[in-house]
Amino acid sequence: MRVKMTLEDVLQGKTKGGVVTADESTLMREAVKMMATNNFGALVITSEGRPAGIVTERDVLRQAAQGEGFLNKPVSEVMTRDIVVGRFSDDVEVAKRVMTDKRFRHMPIMQKGKLVGIVSIGDVVRSQLMTIEAEATYLRDYIRGEYG
Ligand code: AMP
Repeated sequence: MRVKMTLEDVLQGKTKGGVVTADESTLMREAVKMMATNNFGALVITSEGRPAGIVTERDVLRQAAQGEGFLNKPVSEVMTRDIVVGRFSDDVEVAKRVMTDKRFRHMPIMQKGKLVGIVSIGDVVRSQLMTIEAEATYLRDYIRGEYG
């Protein structure tokens, strides 16, 4: 029987450190630096402290294709405003399908109105691989009779 894995499980498997956000007035130049130095592909953009949009490396690429001028734009001009968010209790399989269908790789996680993390398609795949490996180890031990 498959145990349902939730987005909370995926977040727990990640190294802690909170979510890095940027205010909507931040220039793209700064946002790109933040993504590069922290090594992540998405930045949640806030307005008066509340999530208002998301900028990802895909947005940077699209803008860069039109010239360097975008580096001086505020992130509010580049961000996607309608963010699709997940919750702790959401099934990972459902989140994976949503990300695949809608063609994005990052899902901010909101809990009680607060941004608590961000899950990428890479995090989802990693945690599912870990589960498969744990199940395989259990089954191998079981076959060898190590559980009596
Ligand atoms: P990604 O594949 O995550 O780099 O994103 C592809 C496009 O979808 C970019 O234009 C992002 O701004 C947008 N995007 C990424 N994540 C989300 C999300 N959770 N909700 C809405 N749009 C998103």
